Amino acid sequence: MLKPSLYGFTLPQLEEYVRQEGQPTYRAKQIFHWLYQQRVQDVEEMTDLPKNLRSTLAQTTLLCSMKELVSQKSQDGTIKFLLELHDGATIETVIMRHDYGNSVCVSTQVGCKMGCKFCASTLGGLVRNLTAGEIVEQVVLCQRLLDRTHERVSSVVLMGSGEPLDNYDASIGFVDIVTDPEGLKIGQRHITISTVGLVPAIYRLADEMRGITLAVSIHAADDETRSKMMPVNKAYDILTLLDACRYYYEKTGRRITFEYALINGHNDKIQDAQKLAKLLQSLPCHVNLIPVNYVPERDLTRTPQDQIRAFANELERLSINATVRREMGSDIAAACGQLRAQQARERI
Ligand code: SF4
Repeated sequence: MLKPSLYGFTLPQLEEYVRQEGQPTYRAKQIFHWLYQQRVQDVEEMTDLPKNLRSTLAQTTLLCSMKELVSQKSQDGTIKFLLELHDGATIETVIMRHDYGNSVCVSTQVGCKMGCKFCASTLGGLVRNLTAGEIVEQVVLCQRLLDRTHERVSSVVLMGSGEPLDNYDASIGFVDIVTDPEGLKIGQRHITISTVGLVPAIYRLADEMRGITLAVSIHAADDETRSKMMPVNKAYDILTLLDACRYYYEKTGRRITFEYALINGHNDKIQDAQKLAKLLQSLPCHVNLIPVNYVPERDLTRTPQDQIRAFANELERLSINATVRREMGSDIAAACGQLRAQQARERI
């Protein structure tokens, strides 16, 4: 059986682990310090732990379980990694540079079963869920790279391959680990979970009252168009989804971000902007317009620049706060799933 990743333990779980080994609980904080402040790659480097605890940790847990297969750096500083997991599966992780800091986009599943029509990650379906440790390790790997230039990861988006709320426990375990003041100390407000709209999980997240930002992929303003783009809409239609979003806002006070991928000829008319504004008018929110990247397997093309601008202006005119997502890494395969899909094509 595969050993559990040391990155997958919350601090209370690690305290329980050391207690069972007959050690005082402060050893857990020491281990957290080595993992997240020193970012060691071998338990033998945890020099203030007793030798027998180090050898037990080495025998019963995994530390570095991922191999960097490819890394691409874009002219704007975006760095994209293709990482190989212990079982040979691959995932993507991206470091994005903003004027407010460095953000890491992590994957939460290998592949995805949600079937969104504009997405390369779902082409081969869901392979498996990532563990909390595998999600945390992606951030640690990026932080190690940023250590070379004395920078830090200031925010994390769960927006890589996979639907985070379809892997709920691991995604929330991840949040608890990276926000721990003894760990990477990333503020809850600096974590964004992106979802296609798994309504029961949105209610659960709201009730658990973590102060994270929810980004909901809406991508269309009517059920017919949305169901064609996103099969999940057949299970939870737009109004059902918006009720859950309103509940999330009321419980957490966190404004919802709606992601809207503009696809040429599908959802990018001015009338679509007007319908969207009407749907969102009573909900404190922000709309993030995403010029969709060309996905060879899907034959979808991007909306022309002036039409993107006109769509954003119409939303603003109707009092909906909207921005067009700055394109990051446009000279590399930076969109969700593209690098993995590209590698799969090369293997064929
Ligand atoms: S957009 Fe996200 S949820 Fe939809 S198929 Fe791609 S990875 Fe899955």
